[in-house]
Amino acid sequence: MFKMFSCKDISKATCHSDDLGLFERINYKVHLLICGNCRKYAHGIEVIGEKFTEVLKKRRKVSPEKVTQLENRILDSIKKNNGNE
Ligand SMILES: [Zn+2]
Repeated sequence: MFKMFSCKDISKATCHSDDLGLFERINYKVHLLICGNCRKYAHGIEVIGEKFTEVLKKRRKVSPEKVTQLENRILDSIKKNNGNE
């Protein structure tokens, strides 16, 4: 049967959305339609993706450690912005 993604599933799926199957993709989109928190979250991830692409274009020799650090910092700030559920 159709099982809705939970908010936790969404946060996991957002990080590897390229790996989602067709059915999961639909599930994901439906959840974003009805859940404002996850919409905000997914949008934040998208923005990060764009920013990373920009940064990587400008500086090709960014160490993976620094990228991970930056990623964690941005994810933390998004979590704070979303507040406690
Ligand atoms: Zn949600």
